[in-house]
Amino acid sequence: MAVAGSVDKLGKVVIRNVGLMLSGDIDRPILDADTVIVEDGKIVAVGRAADCDTGDPRLTIDVRGTTLAPGLIDSHVHPVFGDWTPRQNQLGWIESCLHGGVTTMISAGEVHLPGRPKDVVGVKALAITAQRAFDGMRAAGLAGGVKVLAGAPVIEKGMREEDFAELAAAGVSLLGEIGLGSVKAGDEAARMVGWARRHGMRSTIHTGGPSIPGSGLIDKDVVLEADADVIGHVNGGHTALPYQQVCELCERSPRALEIVHNGNERIGILTAKHAMELRCPHRVILGTDAPAGSGVQPLGILRLIALISSLADIPAEIVFGFATGNTARMRGLAQGLIEVGRPADFVFMDKAQHSAGRDLLDSVRLGDLPGVGMVMIDGIVRCERSRNTPPAGTVPAIGH
Ligand SMILES: [Zn+2]
Repeated sequence: MAVAGSVDKLGKVVIRNVGLMLSGDIDRPILDADTVIVEDGKIVAVGRAADCDTGDPRLTIDVRGTTLAPGLIDSHVHPVFGDWTPRQNQLGWIESCLHGGVTTMISAGEVHLPGRPKDVVGVKALAITAQRAFDGMRAAGLAGGVKVLAGAPVIEKGMREEDFAELAAAGVSLLGEIGLGSVKAGDEAARMVGWARRHGMRSTIHTGGPSIPGSGLIDKDVVLEADADVIGHVNGGHTALPYQQVCELCERSPRALEIVHNGNERIGILTAKHAMELRCPHRVILGTDAPAGSGVQPLGILRLIALISSLADIPAEIVFGFATGNTARMRGLAQGLIEVGRPADFVFMDKAQHSAGRDLLDSVRLGDLPGVGMVMIDGIVRCERSRNTPPAGTVPAIGH
């Protein structure tokens, strides 16, 4: 599949018989549609079968009345190189997350690299190398073809604006978690976030207590002053700020509120509820923060969706939007929405066998995980029935 990847992408794919289509857009979470047409890896039509040109496809997928959603986006991961994590000495973790419906991962810094360089030249070299390496992996269809957006330098003291210009020109578009390097003061971070923003790079800040020995506390005053694009793990990773401080971040900052699996679950649930009450649910995005001390969580995003829907009492179709369309919009990604012109990144799901829920959305609302029946990236089927989720009741059928 690796070599055939770019060839498979070409041509027409008809996805028909969709029972429930989730758009990823929390303002219009459910689409009145049963068919998606894909050409060369991109969505070209979404609608009712009678209104779509379904003729002459390379591939037909009969969804058999089950659910189609945008592929899930993990907003916060710590990749290193290849499909390997030194944190838990584990191989194949990215491909395993594909089986949890994840089609895109965003690096919050390649911080687990043993001996990670901390001098400015080394920081830049690592970021550019990681960006190139993960882009190359994706082009080759490695690690299940998951889109790992990496090359996220952790800012260090001594960096100047020309360093950010150089990184941006080289194709680096992210900053890793601010606070994991030597820059920990709000004013210094704000200056570098400003430089990054001026050169088109997006930033994330660590929030809460130290994650591992060697990292430090970042409290709400530093987060507010730094003003990074994403308030990384607003529920801590693991140690959360006091809830009052989290409320202040919700109320006083317009930036993305990232809830992670590897955080304080109580604060995660309260943050989601508070964002709904404040009428800013568009800011809520989800991540795992894996690999971390708590390990790799191939089903982490699905688990967070079920946790938030069931315990924060938010409709499941909205919470799926937190992990797809919200992340796409807060981070300026093309994928994450079922819409004409977007990449054909999808997760096909059904209610897990023997769930007490009436249907998929009800089962998630009751706290159960859905069963993944297929995952597609850029119009290429990357896995069929998931080896990791509980088994889906019904899975899609492929025809040619
Ligand atoms: Zn962190």
